[in-house]
Amino acid sequence: MSRRHAVFLPAITTLLAGSALAAPDVIVVNGDVYTVDLDAPRVQAFAVEDGKFSAVGSNAEIRALADDSTRIIDAGGNTVLPGIIDGHAHVSGNAPAVAGVDLSYVVDKDEWLILIEEAHQRLPEGEWLTGGWWDHTLSDAVFPNKEMLDEVVPDRPIFLNHIDGHYAWVNSLALDLANVTADTPVPPGGEIVVDENTGEPTGILLETAMGVVREIIPERSVEQRRAGLTEMYDIANSFGITGLHQMGGLDDYLYIVEEGDPTIRVWYGQRGPAGTIEDYDAHVQGILAVQAETDRRVGETGKQDAMGPLLHVGYVKLINDGVLSAHTAVLLESYRDREGWMGEYITAPVDLAAQVDMVTAGGLPVAIHSIGDAAVRASLDAFEAAKGNKVPYPNRIEHIELAHPDDVARFRELGIVASMQPNHATNAIGYVPLRVGTHREDRAYVWRSMLDAGVTLVFAADYPTSPLNPLVQMADAMFRVSPFGFHNGEPWHPEQAVTFEEALRAYTMAGASVTAWADEIGSITEGKWADFVVLDGKVPQPMDISFRNLVVEMTYFAGREVYAKPH
Ligand SMILES: [Zn+2]
Repeated sequence: MSRRHAVFLPAITTLLAGSALAAPDVIVVNGDVYTVDLDAPRVQAFAVEDGKFSAVGSNAEIRALADDSTRIIDAGGNTVLPGIIDGHAHVSGNAPAVAGVDLSYVVDKDEWLILIEEAHQRLPEGEWLTGGWWDHTLSDAVFPNKEMLDEVVPDRPIFLNHIDGHYAWVNSLALDLANVTADTPVPPGGEIVVDENTGEPTGILLETAMGVVREIIPERSVEQRRAGLTEMYDIANSFGITGLHQMGGLDDYLYIVEEGDPTIRVWYGQRGPAGTIEDYDAHVQGILAVQAETDRRVGETGKQDAMGPLLHVGYVKLINDGVLSAHTAVLLESYRDREGWMGEYITAPVDLAAQVDMVTAGGLPVAIHSIGDAAVRASLDAFEAAKGNKVPYPNRIEHIELAHPDDVARFRELGIVASMQPNHATNAIGYVPLRVGTHREDRAYVWRSMLDAGVTLVFAADYPTSPLNPLVQMADAMFRVSPFGFHNGEPWHPEQAVTFEEALRAYTMAGASVTAWADEIGSITEGKWADFVVLDGKVPQPMDISFRNLVVEMTYFAGREVYAKPH
């Protein structure tokens, strides 16, 4: 029962008490509940029965439904949200958080070493310690060296990627195992950095020189990868995530559904083949076959009867440009810091249009990675040309780090979803002005413009390229402040910031609304699967920076507790 029906409640309650209907399995009371349901956006309480929300209302209304067998969760005034749906993910069992160490966004080098030591303790003996995503430019801009690693981990080889993927930092054991010395030949464009005084390798490998060590790292086994993905489910649940729009690793996700405990609903994007259009029809038929086979195998487990939707191949991922940081995003005008250069298409507009036409004609929606304003326009053009093809769920553009003002309304007109990553914005505050100049900054990460134009806005982390934690991402969406102090620590183009309610919608119902599961998940609504999150405090109203202190207290998936914060 939603709030507007509350007036009828006494009669309904009497009816229930007099019938053979069971009481709820779980009720949540005293909550600061954001339902993300427009019919009753803020309530105190709700009930769960057979894995679904069975009633939504006031404390008194919901308490009246319970009996001795009902588990009562007293939220103590804390905020309760629908299960979070991350709209763009590359979560895998090889993710840095489980296969090694994740140093992204960690400023202090001493803190790196603590995290590396922790990963060393966690990993099985003999396994390489990988991952990384360190960024020395956040502190003193001095490269770290092998001695720092040797001191904390002398007996396990270490290979840690730099955040932009162009350098690696290794320890002495890794160099020894790869027989690397200062004299080892490296392919053109690479360099083994050597110490000026000793002439010995420092442990930093630049560009192609990374390969001389990387090539000897054993590939993680299927078993390691699947165990890693299982751990990633737990990590995602600990952040309140119960839904992912995932790209990559379909077999491992299917394995979790068939053999493991699937506590995340996965809307899967199959990568479309790159290149030109020959044989594309066969590729599309292949993807449709994968879709049907996946549905069959997921269905055969019977788990969806009790848990709701678990895994579906729902769309095709295409790509047409690179990234702003490396000058590979395609712009309408030249880069400010590289005169005459506008980037280069990974997929030319004519080929992209042909691919979009073939895929959508096959009945599959398309999601296109487009970062520069020219790439975004090319994707819109491709969708416009193919608009006669009917797809069951909307087409979408991923990232959209720059959008020309003329193009924003086209998203709405063509029904294209804007799938964007708040932390990519705050992380880029340092370099976007360098790349595009101040006169084009107003095209960057235009969330507010998208919402004002009536565009469906979906938020995500694009993990592992930014933190998986949706509360971190929502803070970035609301405050637009650099975590590293760029722009004097002031909000950067705050006119494009969104409210908490808008960020929450982009991280819940919006992500559900663009899938087959719009009526099944995404909000705390009677009849939907009971995916919800209790925070350890109350979302501040009016909003302030103390929002950053909030963490998840517990996460429920289909009415079952899948995460509880350790106390
Ligand atoms: Zn991505």
